[in-house]
Amino acid sequence: MTRVYFLLGGNIGNREGLLAEAIEKMKIEVGAFIQTSSLYETEPWGFTHEQNFLNQVVVFDSELPAIDILDKTQAIEKELGRVRKKTQYCERTIDIDILFYGDSIIENERLSVPHPRIQERSFALYPLEELIPEFIHPILKKTIKQLKDKCADELEVNRFN
Ligand code: ATP
Ligand code: CA
Ligand code: CA
Repeated sequence: MTRVYFLLGGNIGNREGLLAEAIEKMKIEVGAFIQTSSLYETEPWGFTHEQNFLNQVVVFDSELPAIDILDKTQAIEKELGRVRKKTQYCERTIDIDILFYGDSIIENERLSVPHPRIQERSFALYPLEELIPEFIHPILKKTIKQLKDKCADELEVNRFN
């Protein structure tokens, strides 16, 4: 059993509804639901769009290998209307990223875990800090709180609920 931290985000459609639907589907596919962070409203990272993102960290305990979890979460993204475009950073109904898979380090063609851009993104660090401020990043060997205090990302992140 591995504790897995996900970052969910989306900026089009019924943002709250889509996050809730994704979590319901993950309860069926991924494993035992543990908890979520609050919702955070954040400016788009890496592109501009009129609609801000809602982001949330979601925690599960899973028996599945990380790659199987990626298959499941990509299928859920598809079911919830995610359309993949050629440009990487663009608007989307739902994005499900694996932030941490226990303290495993995974590097292959489809998967980098811990997610390689956590430390650059306030919208990942704020909700992580709410849940696991003292968790030590298995590669960077710093706590979430230390990473957040050091992060230069100035995009706005506000508690939504
Ligand atoms: P970013 O990864 O910078 O947040 P993104 O979420 O917009 O960008 P996507 O288009 O959703 O990127 O995913 C591109 C690919 O990233 C996926 O097909 C997947 O194979 C790969 N990937 C690598 N590491 C991870 C991870 N930790 N979680 C989810 N996908 C990952
Ligand atoms: Ca992402
Ligand atoms: Ca993604």
